Amino acid sequence: MTTTDSNKAMPFEGLHEECGVFGMYDFDGGDVASSIYYGLFALQHRGQESCGIAVSETSGPKGKVTSYKGMGLVNEVFDGETLEKMRGDIGVGHVRYSTAGESTRENAQPLVLNYVKGTLALAHNGNLINAKELKKDLEYTGAIFQTTIDSEVIAYHIARERLQSKTAEEAVRRACMKLKGAYALVVASPRKLIGARDPFGFKPLCIGKRDNAYILASETCALDTIGAEFVRDVLPGEVVTITPEKGVESDMEMALPKEKEARCIFEYIYFARPDSHIDGVSVYGSRIKAGKFLAMDSPVEADLVTGVPESGNAAALGYSLQSGIPYGTAFVKNGYVGRTFIKPKQSSRESSVRIKLNVLKEAVAGKRVVMIDDSIVRGTTSDRIVRMLREAGATEVHVRISSPPFLWPCYFGTDIPEREQLIAYKRSIEDIRKIIGADSLGYLGMERLDEMVEGLSICRGCFNGKYPMEPPKEDIRGEYFDKEIDMAKKLERNL
Ligand code: SF4
Repeated sequence: MTTTDSNKAMPFEGLHEECGVFGMYDFDGGDVASSIYYGLFALQHRGQESCGIAVSETSGPKGKVTSYKGMGLVNEVFDGETLEKMRGDIGVGHVRYSTAGESTRENAQPLVLNYVKGTLALAHNGNLINAKELKKDLEYTGAIFQTTIDSEVIAYHIARERLQSKTAEEAVRRACMKLKGAYALVVASPRKLIGARDPFGFKPLCIGKRDNAYILASETCALDTIGAEFVRDVLPGEVVTITPEKGVESDMEMALPKEKEARCIFEYIYFARPDSHIDGVSVYGSRIKAGKFLAMDSPVEADLVTGVPESGNAAALGYSLQSGIPYGTAFVKNGYVGRTFIKPKQSSRESSVRIKLNVLKEAVAGKRVVMIDDSIVRGTTSDRIVRMLREAGATEVHVRISSPPFLWPCYFGTDIPEREQLIAYKRSIEDIRKIIGADSLGYLGMERLDEMVEGLSICRGCFNGKYPMEPPKEDIRGEYFDKEIDMAKKLERNL
């Protein structure tokens, strides 16, 4: 994804997913830490700021959890020695990108909570819209928070509900019923692995199995990586409990009627890895379809179709298949821009976009190019990429976007900013075309989204302002991630 920028010295800032979660329980008693590590490695695209793993032994004393977390990529935080010391047959792991709460080690997950019934390790993907109220409730009853993230509020509520519930899974469900917003949770209690998905199904979660071990993961690509087979998706509103005695048990008490479900469409458009399947729909297949629809609805005469890597590539192939215009690679991406990379100064001649992306002159010189990207948020990166193509000799640049225009912010875990910062707000497509300097511009039609995901019920709030639940009256995103300061920090970190 390359399409967003800050309004200042624009680094290479795109939309971000909030997190990836992974849980595993080996009924044969084998250690799970290294498999969790590889699972998190496969989910790295969902969050690169921090990561962590917590494991425990189900046969050992209740309450002994070994956890390790830190800032950075999975392979920066963990080494062989650390993993070797992490003994346990049940555990959870997490990769994080912060849209709520600062990016600090304390805010890294999993969270481990000791309470009278034992210990909980919890990893969460999503964003709550009522975290502030829930936190206040807890603070009035004496709770002291060590982090600034929603996930701690969830963990506390589970611990509190556990005191009045017969089982850990009942406590998870009772706590979930208080939560409003998006969440996919994995929880390791002393003897159970529990997964929960919010009733709208904003965030994905699936179940896998390898030999006698069960896995919960944000995406199926993580199951493939560790050699596990896909069992099924956790359904929107479902709480699953995994134990050696009963295998996978399901509780659907929170579920909504199917038509009310509201999966985040951006999982398919951008966030998820193309080799994942979510709720029975191939992410790659949905992107190919988006490209085909763009070719049908916004055709143009051209010599080459290319995608802005990585998420634009499948849609570009779809455009090519439908239009007959040859597909080719026009960009080379440098993927080694890590957390500690030194961002060029505003005055520097090294553009942040150029550092990360370069154009293959031989591929585009003298050609009319169709360039496919997944979205345009603020627009200045698109402007630079179009310019780079022209400088490399492209005679025409036609931009096609595999999503409808962003007109509203997101409250459910995607960092789409307030309306005033969105390029499409109060502008026509022609206005946007002129700003980014393209010869033509076409977006995916809203009506195509349903076909793209085979009729699954989806959220489209950032396109039409109709959110699946009442959005917060005040802009809580501002409260939770102090926009000015936090965004500046993120830009510095991420380029
Ligand atoms: S508003 Fe947009 S980004 Fe947010 S959950 Fe809905 S579809 Fe996803």
